[in-house]
Amino acid sequence: MENFEQLKRDDRFCFSCKKEYSCFNQCCTDTNIFLTPYDVLRIRRHLNISSEDFLEKYTIQPFTKDQKLPVVLLKLLDDEKKHCPFVKKEGCSIYEDRPWSCRMYPIGLASQKTRAEDPGNEFFFLQKEDFCEGHTSKQEWSIGEWMHNQGIEPYENFSSLFREIVLHPYFDKGQDLTPQKMEMFHMVFYNLDKFRNFVFDSTFLKRFEVAKKTIENTKSNDIKLMEFGVDWLKFCLFGESTIKIRGEVSEEDLAEV
Ligand code: SF4
Ligand code: SF4
Repeated sequence: MENFEQLKRDDRFCFSCKKEYSCFNQCCTDTNIFLTPYDVLRIRRHLNISSEDFLEKYTIQPFTKDQKLPVVLLKLLDDEKKHCPFVKKEGCSIYEDRPWSCRMYPIGLASQKTRAEDPGNEFFFLQKEDFCEGHTSKQEWSIGEWMHNQGIEPYENFSSLFREIVLHPYFDKGQDLTPQKMEMFHMVFYNLDKFRNFVFDSTFLKRFEVAKKTIENTKSNDIKLMEFGVDWLKFCLFGESTIKIRGEVSEEDLAEV
């Protein structure tokens, strides 16, 4: 990151993206698009398919032995230019629900945060691909204005939930998650339908005390379900008392995912 100038929300830059540019759609080929949990939620709703189907059809989930947490990338088409599956001649076919990184472009975000609540060393930077004509524009924005224009607010709200887990002090001690705990993390953040089934179609509610209001809220509301999932993860991954056990629950029960 040392080659990039570190920018703050108030810093300004010039940019615009227009269909008239000869580069139109070029940025939607041969690129790594990491999907956030909220991206998965928005896109699979847009496509009206289950999280399971979305993950299978549209993503790759590479895993290396040094990886601390699961990651989900958009699977590009296997054509000559490696097009994004959602790019059409007229532009992005899921524009209203396009991923966070597509909205942010050409702004990138880097973070050296070590705590969820720590403002830390988060900074923005400007990505300048040679082919992108957008940088020739005289239209000026602050980074904050750009983010607002691109509808980033709900993504920011949602990312605070994610950070509660990925920046948890548990990881400061160099501890890793077991494969089973990684599965739980993946289910709550990326495969929410599976988590919903786990909560409502298993013995979960017999084994754990969950307030009636929470049950009602989580049944049909994905955000509420994920909020509940974060409590569940804090309980399972870090041993916090965020979920109440009804009776004796064995390790085997907790692993029933
Ligand atoms: S201006 Fe940049 S962001 Fe817009 S279509 Fe062209 S390459 Fe993509
Ligand atoms: S999701 Fe849309 S904006 Fe993002 S790369 Fe694909 S077509 Fe382009």
